[in-house]
Amino acid sequence: MNRPLIIILLLAMLALGWWRLHPAEDGVRRTRLLMGTVVEIVAQGADAQDAVDAAFAEMVRLEKLLSRHVPESDVSRISASETGGEVTPETAQVIALGLEIAAKSGGAFDLTLGRLKSLWKIEDEAPTIPSQSDITKALAGIGPHALQLDGQLVRKRQPQLLIDLGGIAKGFIVDRAVDVLKAHGIASAAVNAGGDMYLLGSKAARPWRIGIQHPRSADAILATVEVSDRAVVTSGDYERYFERDGVRYHHIFDPKTGQPARRCQSVTIIADSVALGDALATAVFVLGPQQGLELLKQFPQTEGLIVAADDTLHKSPGWDHYEAAP
Ligand code: AMP
Ligand code: MG
Repeated sequence: MNRPLIIILLLAMLALGWWRLHPAEDGVRRTRLLMGTVVEIVAQGADAQDAVDAAFAEMVRLEKLLSRHVPESDVSRISASETGGEVTPETAQVIALGLEIAAKSGGAFDLTLGRLKSLWKIEDEAPTIPSQSDITKALAGIGPHALQLDGQLVRKRQPQLLIDLGGIAKGFIVDRAVDVLKAHGIASAAVNAGGDMYLLGSKAARPWRIGIQHPRSADAILATVEVSDRAVVTSGDYERYFERDGVRYHHIFDPKTGQPARRCQSVTIIADSVALGDALATAVFVLGPQQGLELLKQFPQTEGLIVAADDTLHKSPGWDHYEAAP
């Protein structure tokens, strides 16, 4: 080989080597549109590029099982069937946790709000305020006992029940993405799916610092927490909503009334898993500060910060352990 070619090859190898090392030092940061939201993964480690690719692939796979917008998903199949049917182990796991939170929250969390959600069309271009009679029909037969799970077999108590895992699936999918990152040897990462977050390990030898948005001021930070190997999940009435005659109609429904839940502006949960945090954030949002904090007592190592409808702040007893100076 002639000398210039060898030099060019050496330079190319060096450049390639640098390129492969560089992300290991600074980390990889990537975003993708998934589950109707922006998902961001930040990861540090030698295999971070491949790990992040694999984590996104897993999220895409799971969204296809759990989304009501994918016609062949487990959720769509069960909704379309009169009696239910077999689902994948992953979907069964989501439904099992959802049913547990539904029972413990006295039905404030509900996996069977699909018809109600379709009625309000909050996430569509043209949302509507439905008539009371349509709401009553959409609520008929729903509730914590409307679905039963036996292994991987889901049974519907009513043929017309439509399943909606929107209050929990995103969290579950983030957990699985984190599992994939860990399997690739990643020890430091953050995964954020529109407010459903997991913070793995530490960042530059310190816990991750997470700012929690104020529900009525997009640029103001309500609180800052420091966490490591924890989920931080926020449900708020500012995420998806429309206003009519000065009233805010948002995407978290009180199954008792069929109306957007009125007791909170935002709820942030710190938990071991994002799936649990996701379901609890939605449930506590519906229950309001008093009953919501009661519910959290049933879950060890789980804390909550609630902004109530009247602007008051409510914290679970262990919340301050995580709160950092802003
Ligand atoms: P999140 O942002 O996690 O609070 O979830 C809101 C989503 O959960 C909505 O877009 C609905 O798909 C679904 N949802 C709304 N109300 C409830 C409820 N009471 N229980 C369970 N899921 C709900
Ligand atoms: Mg939720």
